Amino acid sequence: MNKQTEIEKDLAQLPILEYVFFKPEEIIFAKEVRDLCEGNGCGMYNTNWACPPAVGSIETCREKCQAYDKAMLFTTATEMASSFDMKGWMDARVEHEALTDQVADVFRRYDKNALILSTEGCTVCKKCAYPDAPCRFPECMYPATEGYGIMVMQMAPALNISYNNGANTVTYFSMVLFNE
Ligand code: SF4
Repeated sequence: MNKQTEIEKDLAQLPILEYVFFKPEEIIFAKEVRDLCEGNGCGMYNTNWACPPAVGSIETCREKCQAYDKAMLFTTATEMASSFDMKGWMDARVEHEALTDQVADVFRRYDKNALILSTEGCTVCKKCAYPDAPCRFPECMYPATEGYGIMVMQMAPALNISYNNGANTVTYFSMVLFNE
């Protein structure tokens, strides 16, 4: 049984909505995604080790991803009371990150150096050690796909994954890079 088949058996136990395996060369990097980070749209720029500028240039991020053999993108989708349901958005993200921890555990059983990318910035510690000291929990720190300059909005349809799962639903994405 190859590594992907074994991983898929483990993933089947988890509440993932959709997932797809692909080659890291298929990842779409776009300067405009990184520009949004640098414009501090989410307020996390330059505040933690999981966001730019700490993750390095977009070229560095591309090189890190392309050094792996394979990639996997997965989603969760959560219904909310309305598109203004801020608590619903936050709860959905917490649930997605908890699932990302479980997915990370699956992949790291097969490749301890698997790279996990997820949503927005790291919120593991109440106050990030950045920039004065190294990350306290590097194994729990998942850089944001946006911070890497990855255009998930274009990748999802290209990989037959739904980017939007309907009105009043929030869809979150995470990505795993691993070696076979
Ligand atoms: S795990 Fe803690 S120290 Fe590391 S990036 Fe996240 S918040 Fe910062």
